[in-house]
Amino acid sequence: MSQNKKILVPDLGDFENVEVTEVLVNAGQKIEKNENIITVESDKASIDIPSDISGTIVLINVNNGDILKKGDQILLIKETVKNKKERENQKNSQNKSAVSHDSELLVLGAGPGGYTAAFRAADLGMNVTLIERSPTLGGVCLNAGCIPSKALLHAANVIEQTSAMKDHGIRFSDPKIEMKKLMTWKQGIISKLNSGLVDLSKKRNVKIITGNAQFQSDNSVIIDNKKVIKFEKCIIAVGSESATIPGFPDDDRILDSSKALELEKVPSKMLIVGGGIIGLEMACVYHALGSEITVVELTDSLMPGTDSDLVKIYTKFVCDRYKDIYLKTKVDKIQPVKNRLKVFFEGNDSPKTATYDNILVSVGRKSNGNQINIEKTGVACDQHGIIKVDKKMRTNIDNIFAIGDLTGDPMLAHKATHQAKVAAEVASGKKSSFDARVIPSVAYTDPEIAWVGVTENQAKSDGIDYEKSRFPWAASGRSLAIGRDEGFTKLLFEKETGRVIGGGIIGPYAGDLISEVALAIEMGADAADIGMTVHPHPTLSETIAFTAEAQEGILTDLYMPKTN
Ligand SMILES: Cc1cc2nc3c(=O)[nH]c(=O)nc-3n(C[C@H](O)[C@H](O)[C@H](O)COP(=O)(O)OP(=O)(O)OC[C@H]3O[C@@H](n4cnc5c(N)ncnc54)[C@H](O)[C@@H]3O)c2cc1C
Repeated sequence: MSQNKKILVPDLGDFENVEVTEVLVNAGQKIEKNENIITVESDKASIDIPSDISGTIVLINVNNGDILKKGDQILLIKETVKNKKERENQKNSQNKSAVSHDSELLVLGAGPGGYTAAFRAADLGMNVTLIERSPTLGGVCLNAGCIPSKALLHAANVIEQTSAMKDHGIRFSDPKIEMKKLMTWKQGIISKLNSGLVDLSKKRNVKIITGNAQFQSDNSVIIDNKKVIKFEKCIIAVGSESATIPGFPDDDRILDSSKALELEKVPSKMLIVGGGIIGLEMACVYHALGSEITVVELTDSLMPGTDSDLVKIYTKFVCDRYKDIYLKTKVDKIQPVKNRLKVFFEGNDSPKTATYDNILVSVGRKSNGNQINIEKTGVACDQHGIIKVDKKMRTNIDNIFAIGDLTGDPMLAHKATHQAKVAAEVASGKKSSFDARVIPSVAYTDPEIAWVGVTENQAKSDGIDYEKSRFPWAASGRSLAIGRDEGFTKLLFEKETGRVIGGGIIGPYAGDLISEVALAIEMGADAADIGMTVHPHPTLSETIAFTAEAQEGILTDLYMPKTN
């Protein structure tokens, strides 16, 4: 039994007239309820419109470029109506699955992705079980990543700032570093947040199981080879771990980032292998605590991939602080010698060998996707352990979702939490998808570097027609008032529309400032939108407004004749 029904443009909130940018289906095609049928765009956002029924498309009433408003007809569809027997079968199988599953939703891994997904799903009324192999919740981010590194970076910042004041009339004595106390303080922050997560789980009735989970099928896992848990739906959020370099000796003085966050003694000489964000944040910490730092990087630049104007300022700033920075250089071999580690380098500007107390190997992260018997599920996972997902965070297996580091770059906590909410919402039957236009990146080094959206490197390689505006912080009253003048803010604009498409900031608090640029991109803002927004004075956030004003040619705080 079936009948024809119209699918109309739903209420799109603030967006009254929207343009069809893509028709996602064809006449004659069978579609499921909630499947996207067209994409529309307003001047502020791109929105997918789904079908609210299952059926076969009879007629498509819209074309690319059509302007639609609420109530306009998109399609005519022959609805698939299940007969009495089919309905009863479906009901029976739903009842059966409710009885035979231990958990309606099982979340695997309690990092920022996993716990966010578990909490959101529980808030939406699902029965949720969260499995974590570590004794504490919070994953890498809380226990061995974002939070401990930022606590130590705060300590480093205090040391550097108080020391810098000697040039401005206040002289402090040299700091006395009590590593044990510093690490206890850092651990206290972690523990406070750990117990906060337990508390939030209890309040939401999320059942926590501690143990290592391995898949047995696409409906069950086994915990620590003992207890089998059956589930109806699963969100995999098992994250990532530090990548290693094969051939290096097994020696306690060779550290990964987790161990580098727990040192009880400040090394007098430390080598950082890998000039990416995590390695350079650790370099910043241990330099401030008193280590002599050397950085070795395989490519020709620190923070590979980041725009060169940002990296240039950073490199200039740190090259006076660090003993050496060897670019285009490889560590060939490490040999434990008496009380030290002897390193053999291969590069033009490096010595042949040098010795260090500790070596931090920081050469990227690798997904844990290959450690959970994923092959038992049929979920497609590549040789690097990366699981491919669609915008709804679905894997190729209907009832299994994946989020966070496991889904590939960028491996960032704020990506994991946003994906987590989408996965939980879709699993609970809500319409949701991961539609973020941009995900900001931050290096919490000194100076901080942050960027979002299209980078200049990308704009050039993709042939994007763009304009750039840049404001030097040497002309910012607030920047000078905090004793810094090396930073700058830049914005990239799409030439045709004038919309902001990217931005980069270097200087103290760049990581906090970049959100405004991310919002501008999400909202489709142009230079006038930013410039006409009143920014408080004197702030570093003003530099974003000044950059926009410079683009418009109306900046008065600096004489900057418009060049493009
Ligand atoms: C030193 C450092 C600093 C960082 N700083 C930042 C930063 O400032 N900002 C930022 O955005 N990102 C930062 N990151 C990256 C950030 O930590 C990750 O992107 C984030 O933790 C990923 O979250 P996730 O939920 O995907 O996975 P994870 O945090 O990796 O959590 C996965 C969890 O799954 C558990 N697990 C794995 N396998 C199993 C199993 N078989 N059974 C049960 N449990 C399992 C793990 O024990 C872990 O707790 C940093 C990382 C490091 C290492």
